Amino acid sequence: MPANTQIATALSKIGMVLRSEQWQQAEANSLTPTQAQILVHLAARGPARLTEVAREIAVTQPTASDAVAALVRKRHVEKCRDPGDGRAVLLQATAPGRRAAQALAVWPDALLGAIDVLEPAEQAAFLKGLSKMIRALQQRGAIPVQRMCLSCRHFRPYAHADAAQPHHCTFVDAAFGDADLRLDCGDHAEAGASEAPVA
Ligand code: SF4
Repeated sequence: MPANTQIATALSKIGMVLRSEQWQQAEANSLTPTQAQILVHLAARGPARLTEVAREIAVTQPTASDAVAALVRKRHVEKCRDPGDGRAVLLQATAPGRRAAQALAVWPDALLGAIDVLEPAEQAAFLKGLSKMIRALQQRGAIPVQRMCLSCRHFRPYAHADAAQPHHCTFVDAAFGDADLRLDCGDHAEAGASEAPVA
């Protein structure tokens, strides 16, 4: 079997653990998996428009709209005016919604334990490989833009001779290694097509 097929098979097995856990966590909070994803997204990122939410979690706008309506009924999400555009509506997690999101955002112990089996160098290489795959999926339009180092204009891959910390972030002006590549950074700034970094 070719390596790419082997890796895809392995990822689908890991994905089974995540899907199963997401279903269980959502059900325990009387939510559907889509409602849970939206709630976690709003709690982590703050107020957002429906179109942004749908794009970020990769569902259609009608699907996101139905899920948001249910979250509003359950008082996990509320609508407010966009201070930057009085005609636009923003969605935001309520206090009970943020508490529920905290419980939903916990990674399965079994998965974290399996990752801990890897040596630190293996974890760093794994993270780097996954980051490159996510970046490639993003470039092919298969997933929305991710706030990751590999697509950030502040990222300077292999700017330093230090093998342990070869990369540089110009935002915080610091060197870092593969193990610290970020996949969801609040300071991310999307690089233009001509400045897309490669690690
Ligand atoms: S700002 Fe964040 S995403 Fe961008 S290079 Fe620095 S750590 Fe990475």
